[in-house]
Amino acid sequence: MTLKQLPRLAIVVPCYNEEPVLPTTAPILADILTQLIHDRLVTADSRILFVDDGSRDRTWQLIDQLRTQNSHFTGLKLSRNYGQEAALMAGMETAARQADYVITIDADLQDDPTLIPAMVTQAHAGYDVIYGVRNDRSTDSWFKRTTANGFYWVMGKLGVNLIPNHSDFRLLTHPVLVALMRCHETRPFIRGIIPQLGFPATKLYYKRQPRQAGVSKYPLRKMLRFALDGILSFSVAPIRALLVAGLTICGGALLMILWILIQHFRGTVVTGWSSIMASLWFLGGFQLVAISIIGEYVGRTFTEVKHRPRFIIQTDTYTPSFTAAYRE
Ligand code: UDP
Ligand code: MG
Repeated sequence: MTLKQLPRLAIVVPCYNEEPVLPTTAPILADILTQLIHDRLVTADSRILFVDDGSRDRTWQLIDQLRTQNSHFTGLKLSRNYGQEAALMAGMETAARQADYVITIDADLQDDPTLIPAMVTQAHAGYDVIYGVRNDRSTDSWFKRTTANGFYWVMGKLGVNLIPNHSDFRLLTHPVLVALMRCHETRPFIRGIIPQLGFPATKLYYKRQPRQAGVSKYPLRKMLRFALDGILSFSVAPIRALLVAGLTICGGALLMILWILIQHFRGTVVTGWSSIMASLWFLGGFQLVAISIIGEYVGRTFTEVKHRPRFIIQTDTYTPSFTAAYRE
C-alpha cells in the first residue's frame, strides 16, 4: 500500500457537559495534531472537531473560544442531548465529508491520546479500522469491569462479534465511514456495526486512565439502556428464547394431560382441578408460541427497516474514481 497524497485527519471528540476537562484535553490534542502535521503524516488542514451533545454547562462557549485560539479546532453543536452514539455519528458524518481518516476519542482523556500517531501509521500501512483496546482496566471500578465482561459474554452468546475492552477510541478510513453511514438505524450500536462491516482491521493497546476531571455521563440507567440497545439491535435471540419457552411449556402441559388421563382411569384424580390446571398450562404455552411467531415477523421487519447495506465493496478496479484519494 502506498500513499498518493497525505490524508486529511479529523479527530472527533463527543462532549457532554465537559467544561471541567476541555481546557486540559484541547491543548493535548492540538499538540499531537501539530506534531503529526510537522512529521508530514497528515495534511496541514487536518482538524479537531468537538461535538457538543446538548451540554447544559459552558461547553459550547469553551469550544467557540478554542476556535478563535487555534484554527485546527472546530465545533458542532447538537440541538439537545442525543447520547454519545448519536454525537459520534454526527461528528463522523460531518468529518467524513472532508477527511480521509477520522479518529474518535472521549473528551475526558481516559483514552490515551499518545496512541494517535501509531493509529495514523497503521492506517498508512493499509489498515482501515484501528481499534484502541484497553489492556488494563484497573482504574475502572469492580462493578464496571464485571458488568462489561458480562455484556461481552452475553453478546458473544448472541453471535455478535464485539472487540473486548474496546470502547469508542478508534480510527476509521473514508471507505469505512461511507459504509457506516449506509447503516440507517436511528440508534446505531457503533461498536457492533464496525466489526461487521469487514475491512482490514488491527488493534493497538493502551492503559485506561481515570477521568481527568468532571463526572461520568454513564449512570447505571444509561449503561443498561446501552446494553439493551446492543442486544436488541443485533439479535432476535430473545424472540427465539420465547419460542423455546412456549414449546417447552406446551410439551410439559401435554405430558401433564397424559398423566391426568391415567389418574382419571385409575379413579384417583381430584374432580375439576386437573382439567383446569392442564388447560391453563397448555394455553399459557400456546400463547407464548403465538407471541413468538408474531415476534419473528416483527424481528424480520426490524431487520429490514434498519436498511443496512446488503454488501460493502472494499476495492473496485472497474470504476476509475473508486480508489480513495490518498491510496494508490
Ligand atoms: N458523551 C456524550 N453524550 C452523552 C454522554 C456522553 O457525548 O450523552 C460523551 C462524553 O462527553 C465523553 C464520552 O461521551 O466524551 C464518554 O462519556 P463518559 O466519559 O462520561 O463515559 P465513561 O467513560 O464513564 O463510560
Ligand atoms: Mg469516560
